[in-house]
Amino acid sequence: MKYVYSFEEGKKEMKQLLGGKGANLAEMASIGISVPPGFTITTEACKRYYEENKRLPEEIRDEVKKHLKQLEAKMDKKLGDPSNPLLVSVRSGAAVSMPGMMDTVLNLGLNDESVKGLATRTSNEKMAWDSYRRFIQMFGNVVMGIDHSHFERILEKKKDEQDIEFDNELEVQQLKELVEEYKNMIKDKTGKEFPQNPEEQLWQAIDAVFSSWNNKRAIQYREINNIKGLLGTAVNVQAMVFGNMGNDSGTGVCFTRNPSTGENKFFGEYLTNAQGEDVVAGIRTPKDISQLQEDMPQVYEELLEITRKLEKHYKDMQDIEFTIEKGKLYILQTRNGKRTAFAEVKIAVDFEEEGLITKKEAILKIKPKSISTLLHKRLDPEDKKNNTVIARGLPASPGAGVGKIVFNAEDAAQMKEMGEKVILVRVETSPEDIKGMNAAQGVLTQRGGMTSHAAVVARGMGKCAVVGCSDISINEEKEEMRIGEKEFRKGDYLTLDGSTGEVFEGKIKVIDPEIKGSFAKVMEWADEFRKLGVRTNADTPKDAKKAKEFGAEGIGLCRTEHMFFEGDRIQSVRKMILAENYEERKEALDELLPFQREDFIELFRVMKGLPVTIRLLDPPLHEFLPKGEEIKESASRLNVSEEKLKEKLDALSEINPMLGHRGCRLAITYPEIAEMQTKAIIEAAIRVKEKGIEPIVEIMVPLVAHLNELKKVKEVITQTAERIMKEKNTEIKYRIGTMIEIPRAALTADEIAKEAEFFSFGTNDLTQMCFGFSRDDAGRFLQEYKKKEILEDDPFQTIDTEGVGQLIEIAVEKGRKTKPNLKIGICGEQGGEAKSVEFCHKKKLDYVSCSPFRVPVARLAAAQSAIREEKE
Ligand code: ADP
Ligand code: MG
Ligand code: MG
Repeated sequence: MKYVYSFEEGKKEMKQLLGGKGANLAEMASIGISVPPGFTITTEACKRYYEENKRLPEEIRDEVKKHLKQLEAKMDKKLGDPSNPLLVSVRSGAAVSMPGMMDTVLNLGLNDESVKGLATRTSNEKMAWDSYRRFIQMFGNVVMGIDHSHFERILEKKKDEQDIEFDNELEVQQLKELVEEYKNMIKDKTGKEFPQNPEEQLWQAIDAVFSSWNNKRAIQYREINNIKGLLGTAVNVQAMVFGNMGNDSGTGVCFTRNPSTGENKFFGEYLTNAQGEDVVAGIRTPKDISQLQEDMPQVYEELLEITRKLEKHYKDMQDIEFTIEKGKLYILQTRNGKRTAFAEVKIAVDFEEEGLITKKEAILKIKPKSISTLLHKRLDPEDKKNNTVIARGLPASPGAGVGKIVFNAEDAAQMKEMGEKVILVRVETSPEDIKGMNAAQGVLTQRGGMTSHAAVVARGMGKCAVVGCSDISINEEKEEMRIGEKEFRKGDYLTLDGSTGEVFEGKIKVIDPEIKGSFAKVMEWADEFRKLGVRTNADTPKDAKKAKEFGAEGIGLCRTEHMFFEGDRIQSVRKMILAENYEERKEALDELLPFQREDFIELFRVMKGLPVTIRLLDPPLHEFLPKGEEIKESASRLNVSEEKLKEKLDALSEINPMLGHRGCRLAITYPEIAEMQTKAIIEAAIRVKEKGIEPIVEIMVPLVAHLNELKKVKEVITQTAERIMKEKNTEIKYRIGTMIEIPRAALTADEIAKEAEFFSFGTNDLTQMCFGFSRDDAGRFLQEYKKKEILEDDPFQTIDTEGVGQLIEIAVEKGRKTKPNLKIGICGEQGGEAKSVEFCHKKKLDYVSCSPFRVPVARLAAAQSAIREEKE
């Protein structure tokens, strides 16, 4: 096993082994960019280091010594040579960039003797002593563990004494004094001398860099950014170049394009007479890179040329570190630059237009997550800076929410009617709150995780949500919320950032999303390449319109029950549920019919020429029934005694409602419900047809487990539809299909396909029943499951391809055995999630259906799946 590579031996593909920094230094050296020579100790060595109880094995040390000799020969200098010393930097660098998380030591090799040699050789005494005091400072901090502040204090005092503002104004004498004072302080704090032997310095620095892989902030960074499966950090040992040689020297950081807007304009900052970290650390206010064009025009031109070369070579926007030593330019690092979602899309499109990459490559460059970021209203970053965060929760659904606090759904709806913007603040939400959530600009909950009701529903609605915010305490009765000492009441303004989980007091400006410019272009390209259809889950004409704007090719799921919460309808729904007999129930259903019909007319109109899949009533009935305080009022409205109503509620209550009387089971016990819904659908279709729009109607039966269930319900649907069409003397084309959301249905899909004209996977229920996880309760432990790496992803967000995926595969195969052209889609939450979309593509589904705000994400993910498949 080889543990050390000189820059000549590496290349950019070796990131896993050499780390990003090492691999790119090697790559740059090989394409003729001037990089100070050096070598990389691999991540494998880091692994060994930890295996050997944080000791570097002898064989690796020998390899390092060998490479050090080569470096010395190349530079014609020797580490520790008192008259002609080689100085090196010892730099960390993992396969995935973790900026600023691990350690680096500069100017290593200096001691009381070699500092003089350096001064003579360079004829620059000031630079030599400045480098030495920097080295002691960095080494003391990184290797010997002394807090920065101790050095800062001594440095500040020195500057005060001299009445100067900046480090670079210190003269040789003071620098010499600083070195002494630093060394004494180190001795005081650690009881050890600052090591004078350069080789000893090197081993200790390598040790420290390997150790920094597991420092607290690096571990946290990996956790937050979900970075897993790396061996460790590499260590780069590189000959020093000096930006602190005077005013013809300097150091800087630049981006080949603007990382915030994506604009194709050179972007960066630099400092003259400065070293390494000065720019990032903010030692002095850096100058804009455009200034370099005046300061050192030739260097500027050369740098510009290198940025172009690197962009072309890496086919991506680069983030570059450089140093100028007496007018000579060196590049010290390059990597793909981090950027905003907006810049990411613009840069990908610009690269294609500049001929640097193909359309397909451009599409593959964009992260699906960035697309969803672009689709949400967001807080104006400038205005955000003027406000302070008062609480933090989980960033459950991105976007911005600004409005007045309300504590219940009723108030939310009412205030919205009055033209007010509101934030719904709840301990947690339940299906009854949907109306209020819909009316609100954003939702804030005290309890609940990323898969809580509030989180899932808000994401579905494209509404911003911060959940599980334990910094707040809510008293819903009293309509009060506290954050620390501060009290908030109904009507107070609050601002939420659903992308970060931050909560602000008062109002912050928001900016609107739009699919235009580069974003629109990427979507257009995606449609060229994708094979999967993309539909939407929409219950209202408003959602349907939005989804169409976002490119939906139909409705894959319209949940009729969501219409039941609108206005006064809930009263009729309750009447229906509580009915004693057929007549009573029929009466209630007759009240509902015109409402449902109107809703469908609107939907068919909006989705002109596109398929609309309508699901018959699905949820457990108790979700519609009054609770707590509401019972009294409900009883009087329904004209029964409170006692009687309570009795009925008891009788209807179920131990496991999710596995209870719901889905097609409702249509089997009360065929009149299915009959009413079918009537509403067919009559609506006839109405729009009369207006010249040919609706494409798909009626979907939920929660089928057995062929005979589907048969029975289908009979009701068909008979009703035929009767109405005969009455009206017209023909409507409609199809009857089923959800596949119970494992038994998947396993007997060949049977079920005999009666079904299409399948749609309800992966929420399918996951619930495959895992035996209650969707509404799993949030509590799923977080822990992810943390303990039992599950990599939340199966309610990303299809569990291993388990649930098998059920899907079986159902597709068996279903198409019976009906080769069976149309198959998916309408669960997962249908808009990139990995799940890829799975659906591979399993040859016809379409995915997801909430309106995820439609563009699904379009991109589908295109990426098709392109990747083609590449393989
Ligand atoms: P980080 O990963 O935190 O950016 P780096 O290893 O890149 O740390 O180094 C920190 C700073 O030191 C950078 O600005 C880099 O350009 C500078 N630097 C590193 N090695 C050398 C060197 N051999 N000569 C001059 N400057 C260097
Ligand atoms: Mg760096
Ligand atoms: Mg379901």
